[in-house]
Amino acid sequence: MKKALLFVLAALMALSAGGCASAASGTAAIEKAKILKVGVKEDVPGFGLLNSSTGAYEGLEIDLARLVAKEILGDENAVSFQPVTAKTRGPLLDNGDIDMVIATFTITEERKLTYNFSTPYYTDSVGLLVKKDSGIASLADLSGKTIGVAQSATSKDAIQQAADEAGIGIQFSEFASYPEIKAALDSGRVDVFSVDGAILNGYVDETSVILPDRFSPQEYGIATKLQNTELAAKVDEMIQKWLADGTIAALSEKHIKL
Ligand code: GLU
Repeated sequence: MKKALLFVLAALMALSAGGCASAASGTAAIEKAKILKVGVKEDVPGFGLLNSSTGAYEGLEIDLARLVAKEILGDENAVSFQPVTAKTRGPLLDNGDIDMVIATFTITEERKLTYNFSTPYYTDSVGLLVKKDSGIASLADLSGKTIGVAQSATSKDAIQQAADEAGIGIQFSEFASYPEIKAALDSGRVDVFSVDGAILNGYVDETSVILPDRFSPQEYGIATKLQNTELAAKVDEMIQKWLADGTIAALSEKHIKL
């Protein structure tokens, strides 16, 4: 009798230990690794930017990652940054290369089926970057034009919807990265570069201008694996706390120059 009970206990312990190693293990995997691996942008000023002169990452999303590391591991430096793009951030999270994405990742109903998102920490909107000499001043001038957008980004749907509402016919050309869209804009292969205003800020130069038009609010959330609901709940609790106590407002003020 006693032996049977011990066996059941041992089996239960083995089961829960196995559970700890799985994806649905809260912060156990991060604590074991002693480092928080975060996917961030490297080309978005104010959010996630790899400063070429210091070699360090900086921005609101970088500071948020440090705060999350401090909450989970007690050390704001226990974080490793992995540069991601709109195309790579999901797969890197799926295969466990990173623990979370803090990289201008817009919360959408469709994406919520694949990832857990925190409460939004920032709201941006989609903008249009054109060459100064293009003669394009607003959405109304886009009839017949080609819009360069990134693969896996929300931009195409946002601009298509705005163009449909305005009764304007446009076409799209899709690219894997933002430097490629900027090069296409410069060489005339696309007429417009469209993505969130925050991201366009990293590409505007003396030959180009961001138009005043803005489309589709883009709410940024911290994304974690769908199965790890425990980690998602913890991260969401942190964001809610930092929204309520003014931490996020102060960091936005520090980093984001509008
Ligand atoms: N924020 C938009 C998105 O999540 C633009 C793409 C990007 O973040 O790079 O689709």
